[in-house]
Amino acid sequence: MISEKGNILIVEDEENLHKTLRYNLEMEEYSITSAFTGTEAIKAIDSEYFDLIILDLMLPELDGISIIENVRVKNIDSPILILSAKSSSADRILGLKKGADDYLTKPFNLQELLLRVDKLIIKTKKIRNTAASTELNTYSFGGNTVDFNAQTAVTFSGNSFELSKKESLLLKLLIENKGNVVTREKILQVVWGYNVYPTTRTIDNFILNFRKNFELDARNPKYFQSIRGAGYKFVL
Ligand code: CA
Repeated sequence: MISEKGNILIVEDEENLHKTLRYNLEMEEYSITSAFTGTEAIKAIDSEYFDLIILDLMLPELDGISIIENVRVKNIDSPILILSAKSSSADRILGLKKGADDYLTKPFNLQELLLRVDKLIIKTKKIRNTAASTELNTYSFGGNTVDFNAQTAVTFSGNSFELSKKESLLLKLLIENKGNVVTREKILQVVWGYNVYPTTRTIDNFILNFRKNFELDARNPKYFQSIRGAGYKFVL
């Protein structure tokens, strides 16, 4: 189930604590996915975008720090809240250094946890919304003109057509970052949002379409470039 309020992954192997967390967050209308081991956590993270990951450090199969490393190396920027019985400042620093956003020591106060969860989720949503809704109304390049408000385009060859919401968002995102690589992860976050991740091929198909419509020679694209292993780049 997709919740408007936010998708949270709970990674915790202590069953009772896990249940309590899940119950209380569901009461706050968050949509919850459960993982009880490190492997389950990685599997969930690879198949869906989470607005927040609540992460225990001592876990079976794969520890919490390795999970943070795994998430960050994939450029997934979901906020991570560590929940751990390890209370030394060394553990706290290591977790934050690896890319966690917040740290709560067990046992914790439930009210405090809920407040922190709210804060972290609001922050990530703000970042996403800014990325998706800046002030770019129309844009012209190589004889093509795109109208982002009307979601239409007129190409250099005089073709005019409608853009889907996702096409329009992806075009906008690439154009706003012209000259820079936009990673697959960024595209998935901004364009696909809460949905389960589409395959690489889905984004590729969008790009192929852009080339077909906007490029003089779709096989030797000038504007819409794929950067192998990294993402896509709009070049003028
Ligand atoms: Ca544990």
